[in-house]
Amino acid sequence: MSGNLSEFLAKSKVKAADLEHKRKLSFNIQKYADTVVKGKLQFSDLDLARRRAKNVKWKAIENLDKYLEEFEKNFTSRGGKVIWAEDADQALQAVLQICEEKKTKQVVKSKSMVTEEIHLNDFLAKHNIDSVETDLGEYIQQLDGEAPYHIVTPAMHKSKEDVAKLFHEKLGTEPNLSPSELTQIARKNLREKYITSEVGVTGGNFLIADIGAVCVSENEGNGRLSTAFPKTHIAIVGIEKILPSINDLALFWPLLATYGTGQNVTVYNTIFTGGQQQGENDGPEEMYVILLDNGRTNLLRKEVRESMYCIRCGSCLNACPVYKNIGGHAYGATYSGPIGSVISPHLNGMSDFKHLSYASSLCGNCTEVCPLKINIHEMLLENRHIAVDEGLNTFSENGGWKVWKIAMLSRTMMNSAGAGLKGKVVNKLFSKSWGEGRGNVQFAPKSFNQLWKERNKK
Ligand code: SF4
Repeated sequence: MSGNLSEFLAKSKVKAADLEHKRKLSFNIQKYADTVVKGKLQFSDLDLARRRAKNVKWKAIENLDKYLEEFEKNFTSRGGKVIWAEDADQALQAVLQICEEKKTKQVVKSKSMVTEEIHLNDFLAKHNIDSVETDLGEYIQQLDGEAPYHIVTPAMHKSKEDVAKLFHEKLGTEPNLSPSELTQIARKNLREKYITSEVGVTGGNFLIADIGAVCVSENEGNGRLSTAFPKTHIAIVGIEKILPSINDLALFWPLLATYGTGQNVTVYNTIFTGGQQQGENDGPEEMYVILLDNGRTNLLRKEVRESMYCIRCGSCLNACPVYKNIGGHAYGATYSGPIGSVISPHLNGMSDFKHLSYASSLCGNCTEVCPLKINIHEMLLENRHIAVDEGLNTFSENGGWKVWKIAMLSRTMMNSAGAGLKGKVVNKLFSKSWGEGRGNVQFAPKSFNQLWKERNKK
């Protein structure tokens, strides 16, 4: 058993039995679920909107090379700089080089899963550069030394009491402050960071090819503050975030807001087209966009290509019975939940992460709730096929399935054993994986086949 798999199983087991964890997660997810219903009402034909969006992303990903080059041409024509990063290391080195050129020891950062993926904060810390998270949820997680729990709501597993306790321990505040008091403290601490940072780092929700722009959606204004005060703005964006045209935002902004948080539109939507132009006196003097691959081109294979349409709304996580039981950290990957289980094996290595493709009941709820109608649960099956084709399954697993197949295809064999013997065999084989916490499987005294035969004899 690989280390990642055993860690996943151990963490999942603990979390699935933690009822307090389940209560907090269910409470927070339910708040989103209630508002998403209201948000959807803004669409006169939601199904059409979703199909259109899928079509736009299909076009964008089928022509990825063309649109990325178009983005680069348009963005650089106004003085912006584009850096192509094949992997995390190239992206990190590029950020470091810029920080060293600017002689900065502190950067402010808005919420970005890509920077989590490349472990930017840890890397900068090793080079004595302080990377300050400015999104409130990320700020809380950074204070606690934890990675985000959810791609949209980083501190989803924490209650307001947990956050008050954390602030008390780390910042010396009163132990029972209210959410608004806690927010004010974070606000006060962060204001000073914005004005003393030379470099601001953001991710990007969309890259717009026809105008050469990066779009950032956020609800707190911290993204704008992180890019307005520092003289240099670095946006690190995955290559799959491309959209062909600015006109596509009319569809994608409301879809992202509705499926992410139930809003009609996110509070702050900024379109960055580069640094200051002649005659302008606000905004960063320089802007860099780092276009990150880091395994994304592996997702272009036809079985999982649709996963590149993902706009990271988090809806499939909220709908997943597995995520709701084991939470975000058990996955051991930056991207958790159903979409994380699809892409992580391709981004981080099939042999180390193929087990995530089994972290699904295949109920299809993820596919049902995805604004882009991405066939998530089918791609989880595709991953299992790929793992088998690549010979990554263990000898005992392959043997087990062979025996299972022979038995299932033979009616005579199925009928030859009674309920008692079937129970003994199954409970022996699955005593650890199924039996623990659930008890033994009880077979009915007569099989369906026997009952059917008896009925037809009458
Ligand atoms: S796969 Fe779909 S539902 Fe899941 S995060 Fe991406 S866009 Fe949202």
